[in-house]
Amino acid sequence: LLDPAGRLRSTVFEEMTALARRTGSVNLGQGFPDFAPPREMVDAAAAALGAGHHQYAPIVGIPALREAIATHQRACYGQELDPDGQIAVCAGATEGVTAALLSLLRPGDEVVLFEPRYDLYGAVVEFAGATAVPVPLLPPAFVPDPDDVRAAFSPRTRAVVLNDPHNPTGTVASRELKELLVELAAEHDAVIVTDEVYEHLRYDGPHEPLATLPDAAERTLTVSSAGKTFSATGWRVGWVSGPRDLVQGVVAVKTYLSHSAAAPLQHAVAEALAFPREFFDGMLADYRERRDVLVAGLGEAGLTPPTPQGTFFAVADVSDHYALAGVDDAAGLAQHWAQTAGVVGIPVSAFASPANQGLYADWLRLAFCKRTEVLRAAMAGLAAAV
Ligand code: GLN
Repeated sequence: LLDPAGRLRSTVFEEMTALARRTGSVNLGQGFPDFAPPREMVDAAAAALGAGHHQYAPIVGIPALREAIATHQRACYGQELDPDGQIAVCAGATEGVTAALLSLLRPGDEVVLFEPRYDLYGAVVEFAGATAVPVPLLPPAFVPDPDDVRAAFSPRTRAVVLNDPHNPTGTVASRELKELLVELAAEHDAVIVTDEVYEHLRYDGPHEPLATLPDAAERTLTVSSAGKTFSATGWRVGWVSGPRDLVQGVVAVKTYLSHSAAAPLQHAVAEALAFPREFFDGMLADYRERRDVLVAGLGEAGLTPPTPQGTFFAVADVSDHYALAGVDDAAGLAQHWAQTAGVVGIPVSAFASPANQGLYADWLRLAFCKRTEVLRAAMAGLAAAV
């Protein structure tokens, strides 16, 4: 987290976005859409502003949004949640994960984290004075060895974080892995925190929240948000659901983080969650097309990424391109391609702790949450440069 002078570092996302800006490259690094959210949701936000929703929302979130989240979980996953007590609205999934972990962790506790992982998880574990116990997802399939998963749990384990669908690898957790986590969490009296912000970006079958597995609900905090589903990562509206006592802890902490998420935007997200099935299907079809454009374009450039099963990220082993570029890892190639191909990706090693960085040194993450013409242009630049 700290640089050699002891100052907090900025994130790899900001670093690579700055590189893209400096070089005039297409930014396939930081994952944010370059297209607009659904018109109806934007109109609903404008209407909510016009209707005078300018003061603090309730700490737990406005009732209409909590009800919409409960309805969404029932309709999509058959999950029953009481909007009064089992759901807390947060300032993005970022605050949801942060408040969940801070509510659980005390110095000396251990948290099982799969790697590569979104940088937030490790940062919050450090802020809490707890210890991250990494479990590597093994390339090229990015599946963990079940023995490593078992070995990571100890009497000090307080929580395990699962991100499913998974950023950065674009994989989806298997039923067996989720069952194993439920079993191990029960055995060690640990809480499972699942980050499911890509729940609607599943290309090969419906998402299955871990909390809906047998015996899971009582020890699982599920985090999601509007950012990815509705192409509005700047709105910062997310939520946490789970058993009452655990959600109560999340609320207690978030009170002193954001207090409450943006009131007018909560009204708009409540409406968006109730969009008809066709909206979600159409959004997914658009993303499948973007994914296929990126994967095909990478193929033209001589890369063979595993086809993403979820999220808006693909990862590719780029080691065949080192010689031509005169580099020796994906981080070097990311810099080189920013200059020569006009494309910026993020080296997957940036998502790992030092001990595991070597495992991912050859992998580059590319985001495909961009208009297809932008993706095609980026891939043409890459093909011309390699
Ligand atoms: N979640 C997005 C990504 O992984 C953006 C992260 C960020 O900017 N903090 O790219």
